[in-house]
Amino acid sequence: MSEKINCDNCDMLLYFGEEIKRRLYMRAIPDEAAVLASYGGACPRCGHPLSADTVKVEIRRRRTHGS
Ligand SMILES: [Zn+2]
Repeated sequence: MSEKINCDNCDMLLYFGEEIKRRLYMRAIPDEAAVLASYGGACPRCGHPLSADTVKVEIRRRRTHGS
């Protein structure tokens, strides 16, 4: 599964990659809050404060193309 995090205000893409919960397991990224903290807690484009409640998180399941 992949995960996408966008600013809820201006739709700026903040994170796209492997699902963070899965990365958590691999210890690649501590958690979503750490991703947001890497932006200084504010959207680099519009300054919108970033927290779990102010971003859009989209988790996508890869579609399997069976017959
Ligand atoms: Zn923004």
